[in-house]
Amino acid sequence: MYGRLYRHLLLPLFDGVVKGRRTMSHWHDAEQSQWWTREQLEEFQFKALRSVVAHAQATCPYYSDEWNGRGLDASRLQSPGDFTAWPLLNRDTIRRQRLKMRTTAPVKRMSKATGGSSGEPLQFDLDSGSNDRRTAMTYRGYGWAGAAPGTKQLYIWGTAVGNVPGWKRLKMELHHRFDRHLILSCFEFTPQMMRQHFDRMNRYGAEVIVAYTNPLYEFARFLKQEGLTPVKPRSIVVGAEKLHDFQRELIEDVFGARIFETYGSREFMLIGAECEHHSGLHLSMENLLVEILNDDGSPTPHGQEGNVVITDLFNYGMPFIRYVNGDRAVAGFDLCPCGRGLPLLKKVVGRQLDTLDTPDGRKIPGEFFPHLIKEFPAVRRFQVVQETREVITLKLVVDGGLTLAEREQMLSEVRKCTGTLVDVRLQMVDDIPLTNAGKLKVVVHAV
Ligand SMILES: [Zn+2]
Repeated sequence: MYGRLYRHLLLPLFDGVVKGRRTMSHWHDAEQSQWWTREQLEEFQFKALRSVVAHAQATCPYYSDEWNGRGLDASRLQSPGDFTAWPLLNRDTIRRQRLKMRTTAPVKRMSKATGGSSGEPLQFDLDSGSNDRRTAMTYRGYGWAGAAPGTKQLYIWGTAVGNVPGWKRLKMELHHRFDRHLILSCFEFTPQMMRQHFDRMNRYGAEVIVAYTNPLYEFARFLKQEGLTPVKPRSIVVGAEKLHDFQRELIEDVFGARIFETYGSREFMLIGAECEHHSGLHLSMENLLVEILNDDGSPTPHGQEGNVVITDLFNYGMPFIRYVNGDRAVAGFDLCPCGRGLPLLKKVVGRQLDTLDTPDGRKIPGEFFPHLIKEFPAVRRFQVVQETREVITLKLVVDGGLTLAEREQMLSEVRKCTGTLVDVRLQMVDDIPLTNAGKLKVVVHAV
């Protein structure tokens, strides 16, 4: 009852009237356009691409300098093939050029930050209108998993790390209740806490579980070992960490429900999600152009692994044009038997963050660190080294240094998570080398 009321009355009122957003109408449109043919979708997408590229060249100093210098002209972008001439963009450039990447046009902007799952935190901007569109994409994608707004959901998710004021925590708690979400922090899935989480979960009786992959997998293993049977949800949505087949099997077995994998990031929100056919991730194509490219920038052949490159079609505040996000995926955009025209991304690989072990049996997801580090904007790059089970070193590349208070705060947050048996050390370094594949490893095991 509340679910229907929420979806059809409360959410539209809050979102549209109180907040003045257009999320609901974008969501409505997206529910229609997913059934368009691939050709119709590509036509829509290319039109949006031309507009944002023209806007970027006309109003963003970084893009006009960069493209004019290469003789590129947005008006000559006549077919998707022409777009291959446009240069790629990486995180480092965004860090250095953020201000020049912003539009000079009067667009209402908001600022966001990524925790930097690749080890390099990032601050960026987007216009409020595009935030409504990406929220709509998330509603639709989660809807495929039976997790549209209004459903009763239990989250095993990354929660705010650091000193969040009491009033803010209260506000967040009220929001979650209004949304019918119960949030369990994935940083608290210690062996000691799991029994408590199990009881809470069963009392809550969620329709859908939404979780980071690794904590949910650890939880499923615990329940199986202990012979505990959870109340069955209708479905499970996982994201933020790579899902291995063995994890999918165990989780589905323990919870008695199907998993729907999602792929998203702070920069773009939902990039892709599984439908009821589970044959790949349908891309949020009306909002994003996703390419899979080789290191030299050429398109990766069907079935092979390449770099994920994304263009946001509606971020007019600070356009992301051909952004290399650091993830790897298998190329080839097939159609799905479900009949939706949205292409399928076969498989996302190479964004797994390792787990740290502690002497008292905790397993700390690598995702903890990006969440923590994003609270310290001076940190440009970081890496966590598990020297032994008892010693963890946090290597930091810092612009301008950290204050003593900041160091203490960082250490104290890490210790909350690792417990008292681990010696946590901070080490300031000039650089952190990348792997042979050109990627930064967030968690390194020295032993
Ligand atoms: Zn499908």
